[in-house]
Amino acid sequence: MADDPMAARAPSGTHDVLWPESARWEALLSAFASHVEGAGYGLAHTPLFEDVRVFRRGIGEDSDVVGKEMYEFEDRGGRALALRPEGTAPIVRAFVQHRPPLPWKAWYATPAFRYERPQAGRYRQHHQLGVEALGPADPDLDAEVVSLADGFFRLLGLTSFGLRLNSMGDGVCRPGYLEVLRVYLAEHRHQLCPEHGRRLEANPLRALDCKRPECRAATAEAPALADHLCDPCGRHFERVVAGLDALGVPFVLDHRLVRGFDYYTRTTFEFSSEALEAAQNGIGGGGRYDGLVEMLGGPDTPGIGFGIGVERLLLACDAEGVFPAVPAPLDAFVVDDAGGESARDLTAALRRDGLRADRAFDGRSLKAQLRSADRSGARVAVIIRGEEVAAGTATVRPLRGTGEQQTVLLAELASAVRDAAGPGRSHPASTV
Ligand SMILES: [Zn+2]
Ligand SMILES: [Zn+2]
Repeated sequence: MADDPMAARAPSGTHDVLWPESARWEALLSAFASHVEGAGYGLAHTPLFEDVRVFRRGIGEDSDVVGKEMYEFEDRGGRALALRPEGTAPIVRAFVQHRPPLPWKAWYATPAFRYERPQAGRYRQHHQLGVEALGPADPDLDAEVVSLADGFFRLLGLTSFGLRLNSMGDGVCRPGYLEVLRVYLAEHRHQLCPEHGRRLEANPLRALDCKRPECRAATAEAPALADHLCDPCGRHFERVVAGLDALGVPFVLDHRLVRGFDYYTRTTFEFSSEALEAAQNGIGGGGRYDGLVEMLGGPDTPGIGFGIGVERLLLACDAEGVFPAVPAPLDAFVVDDAGGESARDLTAALRRDGLRADRAFDGRSLKAQLRSADRSGARVAVIIRGEEVAAGTATVRPLRGTGEQQTVLLAELASAVRDAAGPGRSHPASTV
């Protein structure tokens, strides 16, 4: 059947997440929600597509994300739209539109779309978790945001990861630095990779974080932005560094860390897993974007945030053997050999009682239903035969462990299931 060329398949570069793997996604989302809500962030849902200008203005035409990878389309009304390639610009657009009181702290969980060449751990639809904090220019907020991401990775059990930190300066000091850098790169133009040799006028910063050996060698001695910060940017950065030290967040300074989006100012940071291949080991990052709200037509409002790639993060968890998927089993599977009415009614009653319950359908044989019960992973089978309907009882048979089978009155069924399912009974779904 799978070989049928007419059989429907997911588009290239996308992937399905099905049970039980999806239980891990649920748990990840739930852990992230309670972690960031504990720091005052509230969930924000925004549309998966936006006016294409939201990304053009915010991220910049010159970036690969906008220039080469964005899913753009015209809708039936002739509007130029784009599927979101990242999470920050839509949140900032929502802020500009609704102007919630400041400070405004929002978190999101969203798919993001980029037309990239499909390869391991890189998808055309991938998934991101992130936070954005708008309002304060306070460097202590930068330290809080970075430490929030660091704390989340540790909460999952990760230990083999590193944090790189840099300052991108601002509109006061960055232009001067870019001139110095352009002069340096122009002198080394013949050593740069072809792409960055060509683009050094438009965007000299890109050569700094280029992974190609030519660019790395050519920029080894390049002037660092950190040495050209204006006094306010320098003081801001010092306070961020002091904050991370005080909060016990380890990091290294890296003057090559310049992020690809135009909207970043001052603090920029990136987390990478040491358990993954170096070429694709980024698990999250972010930074301050004090100009973005204005770029999207709002009042001058500072902001900072981070985004985490879910697929990459789970690969890092696999590589470290942490945060395993533990799908919660059913408490009960109802097997009804007497017409199905009891299965219908008792399953509903058990669910109302807060138990996880399922049943067999289609009037299958007792044997087939018991096989389904076993395959379901349920802790307990609740068995109804003809004589039990008449007596108002049910048989509770533990399917895991060593408990004894017993016959109970229907009025006591829920508590009997609860007892037989045992203390390991859990409800992770209810925390999502
Ligand atoms: Zn290069
Ligand atoms: Zn500055």
